[in-house]
Amino acid sequence: MTRLFAKTALLPQGLAHDVLVEIGGDRISSVVTDASPATADEHHNLLIPALGNLHSHAFQRAMSGLAERRGQGDDTFWSWRSVMYKMALSMTPDDVEAIAAQLYVEMLEAGFCRVGEFHYLHHDRHGSPYANIAEMGERIAAASAEAGIGLTLLPVFYAHGGFGPTSPGADQRRFINSVGSYEKLMAVSRSAIAGLDHARIGIAPHSLRAATLDEIRTILPMAEGGPVHIHISEQVLEVEGCVTAHGKRPVEMLLGELPVDGKWCLIHATHLDASEISGIAGSGAVVGLCPITEANLGDGIFPGLPYLAEGGAFGVGSDSNVSISLAGELRQFEYSQRLGNRIRNAVASAGGSTGEALLQKAAAGGAQALGAQSGIAPGLPADLVSLDVSRIGYLPPTDQLDAWIFGDDVTVGDVWVAGRKRVSSGRHHSGETIRRRFEQVMQRLMSA
Ligand code: ZN
Repeated sequence: MTRLFAKTALLPQGLAHDVLVEIGGDRISSVVTDASPATADEHHNLLIPALGNLHSHAFQRAMSGLAERRGQGDDTFWSWRSVMYKMALSMTPDDVEAIAAQLYVEMLEAGFCRVGEFHYLHHDRHGSPYANIAEMGERIAAASAEAGIGLTLLPVFYAHGGFGPTSPGADQRRFINSVGSYEKLMAVSRSAIAGLDHARIGIAPHSLRAATLDEIRTILPMAEGGPVHIHISEQVLEVEGCVTAHGKRPVEMLLGELPVDGKWCLIHATHLDASEISGIAGSGAVVGLCPITEANLGDGIFPGLPYLAEGGAFGVGSDSNVSISLAGELRQFEYSQRLGNRIRNAVASAGGSTGEALLQKAAAGGAQALGAQSGIAPGLPADLVSLDVSRIGYLPPTDQLDAWIFGDDVTVGDVWVAGRKRVSSGRHHSGETIRRRFEQVMQRLMSA
C-alpha cells in the first residue's frame, strides 16, 4: 500500500486540502480529505489526475521541427502532408518502435497517463502487409509497454484517396486496407494487446475522405463496444469536398447517417455550423481537440464557446506530436477562444479557475474517448501527477493550477500510471536509454 499525502489535490468535486490518497495495486483504494500526514507518507504539494492523450500519430514525432520552412507559395495542411508522407514511407518497424517509445516518455513527463494511438502506418515500404499484418501495431504496443504508458490502440481503416471515392495515391500505400484485411488486422491487434496491462482497443475509420459510409457501417461491429475515432472537419477544403460529393457537410452527414454516441470521438471538428455544434454536443460524443497541432497546421479555431454552452464534451490530443505539453495543449485551446472571441477566461464558469475547468473537462473527455476512467477517487486507476509548485509557494493553492497552465514556474514532478511511478522529479525512469536509441534512429533517417 502506497500512501500519498498532498497539501492540495484536484478531486472530482474540486480542489481539496490535506488529502491522503492510498494506492493498493493499480487502483486508488481510499481518499481522505482534511487528513493528518504520517511521517512514512510520501509528501506532495499538488496532486492532480493524469490525463489521457486522446489522439497521436507516433511516427510523426520524427517530423518535429522539419516542416517549418516556408515553400514557394502559401504553405497549407496539404503541403505539410507531403512532408509527412515522405517521412512515413521511409520508416521500418524498428524505427517506429524507437520513435514511439521516445514519444511516450515525453507524454508521461508531460502528465499524460494514456495515449490513443490513431495508428495507420500498417504496411511495408512497398505497401505490402507484413507477414504479421499487425506488425506495426505490435511495435506500438511494445513501445507503450517499455515506456509504461496506458495504450488505447486505434487501428485505422483507410481505403480511399478522397471523396468520390477516389483511388489512394502511391504515397498512401502503407495505410490501405480493404474491409476484409481490416477485419484480420483488428483480430490480430486485439490478441496482440490482450497481454498488455491496461490496454484497450477501438476502431478508427480515418475520415469520410478515406472511408465510405457503407464501409464504416460494416466495420463498426469490429469495435466490440470499444471507442470509435474519426478525423472530421479539420480543413475547409475537406468540408467543401464533402459538400460537392454528398451535398452535406462532414459532421452533418456523420450525425445523419451513423449511430454517433458516447463511444465516438470526433477528432478536430474544427469547422462546424450551429446545428452541427448542437448535434455533436447532444450525441454524447467527445470532440478530440489537438490545439497545438491545429495551430501549427493553420486548421482554424474550434467554436468552443457555443459547444461548451451546449454541454459538449472534449479532450485533448497531441496529434502530429510537434510538441508534447499537456499544459500547452490546454493553454492553446483557451488562448484560441480568447483570440477568436476577444475575451478572457473563456472556458471557466463564473468565478471559477480556468486551469481547473480545462483540466476537469479534458480529464473526463479524454478518459471517455479512450475507454478508460480518470479522477482521484476510490476504485479508479491510480493515474496521478504531482506538480512541482516549490517556486510559487507564495501563491494560494487555488491559483497554482492556473500558474501551471499559463505560466512557467510550475513543472510536472512525479507521474504514476496504474499505481506505478514512471516519472520522478520530471524525469522518466528509462528516459536516457530510450532517448539514445531515438537519436540513433533519427540520425539514420535524416541521412537517408
Ligand atoms: Zn490526426
